[in-house]
Amino acid sequence: MTGNENAVPQADHLTVFFASQTGNAESISRNIYEQAQERGFKAFHYALNDHAKVDWDKEDCLVFVVSTTGDGDPPDNSTKFWRHLRKLKGVGLTKAKYTILGLGDTNYDNFCQTAKRLDTRLQELGASSFYPRGLADDATGLEETVDPWIKNLWPALAHQVISTPTIHDFPKPHLTPEEEKIVKGLILKQEQDRKQSIVTVTLDSPKLLSTVTSTTNGRDPIVNTIKDLNNLTLTPSASSPITPAVGYKIDIDFSAMADHSNLTALPRVPNANLHIADLETVVESRAPDSVPTFIQTPTPLLMATINKAQCLTPSDALKRTIAIEFGFEDDVDYAPGDAFGIWAPNNEALVRGVLSVLNVSDTAATKAVRLHGQGIPSHLQTVESATLLDIFRYAVDLTSPPKKANIRLYAEHANDLADKQKLMFMASKQGADQFNAFRAQSPTFLDIMHTFPSIDVPLARIIETLPPMQPRYYSITSSPMSKNGHRRWSCAFNVVTYDLSGGIHRRGVCTPWLDELAGQVPFGKAVTTGLTTQRLPVFLKPNETRFNLPSDTTKPVIMIGPGTGVAPFMGFLEHRAEQRLIKKRLVNIGSGPRQHLDDHFGDMWLFFGCRHREKDWLFREQMESYKRDGVLTELQLAVSREENVPNSAKYVQDLMRSQGESLWNLIHKKGAAIYVCGDAKGMAKAVHDELVNILVDHGGYERMAAIMELNKWAQEKRYLRDLWA
Ligand code: NAP
Repeated sequence: MTGNENAVPQADHLTVFFASQTGNAESISRNIYEQAQERGFKAFHYALNDHAKVDWDKEDCLVFVVSTTGDGDPPDNSTKFWRHLRKLKGVGLTKAKYTILGLGDTNYDNFCQTAKRLDTRLQELGASSFYPRGLADDATGLEETVDPWIKNLWPALAHQVISTPTIHDFPKPHLTPEEEKIVKGLILKQEQDRKQSIVTVTLDSPKLLSTVTSTTNGRDPIVNTIKDLNNLTLTPSASSPITPAVGYKIDIDFSAMADHSNLTALPRVPNANLHIADLETVVESRAPDSVPTFIQTPTPLLMATINKAQCLTPSDALKRTIAIEFGFEDDVDYAPGDAFGIWAPNNEALVRGVLSVLNVSDTAATKAVRLHGQGIPSHLQTVESATLLDIFRYAVDLTSPPKKANIRLYAEHANDLADKQKLMFMASKQGADQFNAFRAQSPTFLDIMHTFPSIDVPLARIIETLPPMQPRYYSITSSPMSKNGHRRWSCAFNVVTYDLSGGIHRRGVCTPWLDELAGQVPFGKAVTTGLTTQRLPVFLKPNETRFNLPSDTTKPVIMIGPGTGVAPFMGFLEHRAEQRLIKKRLVNIGSGPRQHLDDHFGDMWLFFGCRHREKDWLFREQMESYKRDGVLTELQLAVSREENVPNSAKYVQDLMRSQGESLWNLIHKKGAAIYVCGDAKGMAKAVHDELVNILVDHGGYERMAAIMELNKWAQEKRYLRDLWA
C-alpha cells in the first residue's frame, strides 16, 4: 500500500491481455508478464479472445497490449472479445483499473485505433485508467515508446497490485547431479561471455536465473530438455534432395562502435520457456496434400487444387501479376468482397539451410517432437506432434527482419567476441543506425547465422523467439453465382521478388511459391493443363468490415481500386453480371409489361489505375466487356507512367476530382455506396482527401463537417475500405 489515505485496496494479481496480428503485441505482452513475475507480482497472460478464462467481476488490474490491422481493425485473435464487449451493458467494470499499450504505424490512417477504441469502451463500462495509455509508432520505432512505457509501468503497478517475494524465493526444483552440472555449465558460460565482452552491458541476473528456473520449474521434467540438447542439436546434416540455401553475409559498417563503451536501452532477453520433447517415433513424410495439424485458422481449413493460372502482365511490366483459380470438391459458401487466407510454407531451400546451420540432421528433422512449457507463444501451443522440418516450414517466420530482442538473444549466444560486440551494439540505443541498416537488407534468419557464424543458440530458444508464421490473404475475384461459382475461388496477386544492393535477391513467401506451383505460366491466355495436382491449404477470411455488395441491387456502387486493389471489384462485377442475367430471364417471362433491366440495378462506377495500359491494365478484357454489356456504367482509367497522352489522369484520385459533380450526385441523390480497396498508405489517404474535397466543393460542406460526414458514412457501412499494408 502507498501512504495515501484514499488509496484503493491493492489487487492480488494483474492480468496481461494481448491482441496481436503478427506476434509483436504478443511478445511485448509476454515480456511485461514475465517481468511482472520476476518483480514479484502474481500475473496471468491471455489473448483477448480467451477473455472468458478470467472472471471479469474479479479482475481489478488489467494491462492490455494491442495492435491494429487493415483499416484500423482489431487483430483476429481479439474479434470474439470485441463482440463480447459490444454486448456488455451499463457500467459493469467499475472496479477494474487498466492501462493500454497500443502498437501502430502513423503511415496508415486510424493509427492505434484498437487501443483508442478499447480505451473508450472500457471507460464507458466504468473502468478507470491507472497509468496513461502508450501509443507506439512503428514508423519511428516501436521501442521509443514501448521501452519507457514499460519502465514506468512498474512504479504505477506497485500502487495497484500487491507484490510478493521475487523469483529468487520461488521453491528450487530438485536437480540430479547431472542436471546440476549442465545448469552450472550454462551459468559459467554466460559469466565467461560477460567477462570477455569489452562492451559494458548489464546482464540482469533474474533473467539468467529465470532461464534456469523455467527450464526446471514448470510441470515438465527437465529430462526432456537434456535429451533434446543431446538428440537434436548435434548430428551433422545428411544430404537432402533439396540443396540447402546458404544465406547472404550482410555487410554493415560498425566503425562507429568504437565511440561507445557504454551501451544503453538493451532489450531484456525473453525467458526460456519452451521445451522440445522427443517423441521417439520417426514420422512418415506427410502426403504433399496435407498440412501439419498444428496450423490454426479462424475458419475451417479447406484443401484446394489449382484449376487455372494466367499471367496478366508481359515480361516488360514492372510487376508480374498472376491470376489463379482454385477448385474445391465440395461447395464453399462465400460472398463477393470476401478474402481468403493461404498457409504457405517457408521456402524449402531456406528451411533446409536453416536446419543445416543449426546442425539438425535429416533424421532428427523428420522425428516427431512435442513443443511444451508454461507460457510458450500461442502459435506453438498446438504443436503436439510434428517434425522439426514442419515446424520450420509452417510454424515460424524465417524471413521477417529481426527485432532488437532477437539480436540481443543472439548476442548472448555468440561465441566470438567480435560477433558478440556487434550484435550487442545493434541491440542498443547507440547502435540504432546499424540496426536499421541491417533490417533494411531484410535479413532472413539464415542470413543472420551466416553473417555472425559464432551464434550458437539452443534450438528451443530459436523456435520460441522467431515470429509466428502468418497466413497470406487475397481477395476473391469471382462470384458464387457464376458457373461452378461455389466450387471455385479466383484471385490475382503480384509475385513478390526484388533485388537489393550487393547482389542480394529477396522473394516473398507465398506469391513465388504459388507462381512456381502454377508452373510460372507465360503472359497470355489462361492455362488449364499441366498444372500441379498438389492441394493447397486455404480458408475463408471472416469479413468483419462487411465489404460486400449492398443487398439492395438498385443502390449505385462506386468502386475505387488501382492495381490488384481491383480484385474484389472483379467479384462484384461478375456477381452483378449474373444477377442481371437472372433478372433478364425473369422479366422476359410472363405477360406483364416488360420492365427495363436497368431499373433493377443501380449504376456501377469503377476507378482503376495502372502504369501502362498495354502492360498492367489488369482484367482489361473483362472490364471492357462489362462496360459493353451495361454491367459497368462508367469505367474510369488512370495511367501513371505513359508519357505524351493528352488529358490522361495519373492517379484514381485525379479522375475522381474531374468527376466530382457526377460522384456527388450519385452519392447525394442516389445514395451510392463507396468502396475503396488497395494500398493503405498513399492511395487510401489521397482518395479519402479527394472525397472530402468533393463534399466541400459540390456538397457545400465545411472541411471539418465533410470529414465528420465521411466518418458517419463509414459507420453506416456506406463508405467501406479494404486496405492492405
Ligand atoms: P501498383 O501496381 O503498385 O499500383 C497501381 C497503380 O497505382 C500504379 O499506376 C501506381 O502508380 C498507382 N499509385 C501509386 N501510388 C499511388 C497513390 N498514392 N495514389 C493512387 N495511385 C497510386 O498496385 P499493387 O501493387 O497491385 O497494389 C495494390 C494494393 O492492393 C496492394 O497494397 C495490395 O496488397 C492490395 N490488395 C491486393 C489484393 C489481392 O487480392 N492481391 C486485394 C486487395 C488489395 P505509380 O507506381 O506509377 O506511381
